[in-house]
Amino acid sequence: MGDFSVRQATQTARRMVLLAFVGLAFVFGCVLADQAYVHHRYREVLASASKVIDLSWQVALTGHEMTAATGMAAATGSSIWIGVYNGLEPRGAELIDQIVQHLPEDTSQETRDRLIELGRTRRGIDERVFGMVYADDLAAAQALVNSTGYRDTSLAFRNQLEELRQSVRKSVTNEIRRIQVRSWLVSGGLMVLAALFFAIIWRRLNRDMGKSEAAFAVAEARLEQLASFDPLTGMPNRQRLIEEIQQMMIRGERSGQRLAVIALDIDGFRAINDQFGHDVGDRVLREAGRRIISSVRQDEIAARLGDDEFVIAISCQNSQDAPMRVARRIIDLIGQPHLLEGIDVDVRATAGVSIWPDDSALPDELLRKADVALARAKAETRGEVRFFQPVMDADLRERARLQTELKQAIQEGQIVPYFQPVVDLATGAIQGFEVLARWSHPTRGIIAPTAFISFAEDSGLINDLTFSLLRAALKEARAWPGEPTIAINISQRQLIDAKLAGKLLGALADVDFPAHRFEVEVTENALASDIRTAKYILYGLKSRGVRISLDDFGTGYSCLGHLAQLPVDKIKIDRSFTRTMHGQEQSATIIKSIIGLGRSLGLPVIAEGIETLEDAKTLLAMGCATAQGYFFSPPLPAASAQRLLGRPLGYTDQDKSARV
Ligand code: C2E
Ligand code: CA
Ligand code: CA
Repeated sequence: MGDFSVRQATQTARRMVLLAFVGLAFVFGCVLADQAYVHHRYREVLASASKVIDLSWQVALTGHEMTAATGMAAATGSSIWIGVYNGLEPRGAELIDQIVQHLPEDTSQETRDRLIELGRTRRGIDERVFGMVYADDLAAAQALVNSTGYRDTSLAFRNQLEELRQSVRKSVTNEIRRIQVRSWLVSGGLMVLAALFFAIIWRRLNRDMGKSEAAFAVAEARLEQLASFDPLTGMPNRQRLIEEIQQMMIRGERSGQRLAVIALDIDGFRAINDQFGHDVGDRVLREAGRRIISSVRQDEIAARLGDDEFVIAISCQNSQDAPMRVARRIIDLIGQPHLLEGIDVDVRATAGVSIWPDDSALPDELLRKADVALARAKAETRGEVRFFQPVMDADLRERARLQTELKQAIQEGQIVPYFQPVVDLATGAIQGFEVLARWSHPTRGIIAPTAFISFAEDSGLINDLTFSLLRAALKEARAWPGEPTIAINISQRQLIDAKLAGKLLGALADVDFPAHRFEVEVTENALASDIRTAKYILYGLKSRGVRISLDDFGTGYSCLGHLAQLPVDKIKIDRSFTRTMHGQEQSATIIKSIIGLGRSLGLPVIAEGIETLEDAKTLLAMGCATAQGYFFSPPLPAASAQRLLGRPLGYTDQDKSARV
């Protein structure tokens, strides 16, 4: 039944109707043929009957004439009348023959025989009369003609003819009745046949219609399912969710309960998809959906709206406790291990909550506000729950404005490279520069990257920004004397693009910048999100002579693991350690161990954030060889940076003598 399609049903219906038409035409044809036959038979029967009757009258007439001729012969004795008689006689015999031939089939043999017999008897008597006439015994001849025997014979002959006519009439009536009966039988048979035929068609049509009704019902249900449910997880979709939320609002109005809309998003789902493939991505979503469904009650609803966005709507007494509890529980549940084909996929979620009627009276608006809260949670504290606050909306508008503005700024080259020298800590000699982005804003002046880099990352503008900046920086620095290295910062969002190495090398080639003078700075955290792609990119760069620095070292996770796995050339000690190394024993210890690590791995270590002579001396004493910081130079525009080239930075002659 499941395979019975609506198309099949209509096809059968069409076939059945066609068959019914053919059947109808057949029956109609049969009836017509029967009628034609009946008509033909009527005419045949009537024709032969009228022929017999006609002949009988002719015989009767000839009989009269012959009787008259016999009478005249007896009365006059003239042989002329005998001649007349003899002239009539063959015709009479022939007419009788013809009658016998045309008699209806059901005329008894006796009737036929009697007619011939009577004819013969008559002729016998007439011949006796003629014999007497020839013998001139006219009196005897007349006596015989007038005798009762002679008259009886003539009468019998006439009666016989009359009887014959009667019998013909009867036989015609019979025949017609037979034809009628046969025709009725034929019609009746046809009727029965047609009834049977139509009954069969009706049954089949009915059965198929039943099937097609079921098929329609299944199709309808499927459409309904498609219209209201997400095919991957089987969870309700947006439309269905909104309907349910409306129902919950009606119930809430009666019971005085609030409604919480929890928007939930899988953290870094894109990375899961990229790293393990869409198949694993889909399974993670299905499993997440299953876990979410398992933690909502019958009267609550959990839906899937976008790729990795789920929404749960629950009723609650107050606006904070219950939604917070439910959201946390679901986040915990999703965070439980996901083991897919032996791969342990790390899945985490973040949630944003909006409350009805506090935040809005409209389902769409509630969903949007839950989303806004979610976006805020993702930006600030992943794995946490945030409730919507009106200020978030204002921020959002500000961000939207900023995004348009930043996009335009990138296009118009307002993002300019500043160059901060990286120097030999012992001498202050410039080894290279780190390129740091600045937004040269037409009205707000120079804006620091902390104000727009993370935003550029979140809004997907970081790649355009990096390449625009890189091209500008490379063009400036290409011809600088002493061939200083140029380092650029690559963000986490870019290290998931497997084509990144090719794009960077392409940019170098475009401005003819040698790869051995080029460095990329990546943070440990950036590597952690998709280590396979990151590795692929970094090896691709390394193989062409580009050097790789591990930025902000010591602040991320699992530092040693990355050092062992990746083609790192330099380690940059994060500024937070240098800043606190004088006050905090721990920072000094960390710096020392990083320097020791670099030495044992044969990797140079760069100390960031050297602000004072004291910093420089301390680090030098700890064995650090390279440094970067305001003490030597802040990040500078290209022209100023270029002017630094050719002379050592930072130390005065006094410093040097003091150090020596
Ligand atoms: P970062 O890569 O750690 O860059 C070093 C930051 O420390 C720079 O801040 C620099 O100006 C600052 N700095 C250097 N020496 C000193 C010092 O002695 N004292 C103090 N207090 N600060 C010092 P900046 O330029 O504001 O950049 C901040 C962060 O923005 C960078 O940290 C980097 O993570 C990011 N960034 C800057 N430009 C880009 C870029 O083009 N792409 C990417 N992805 N990130 C960038
Ligand atoms: Ca850096
Ligand atoms: Ca750094």
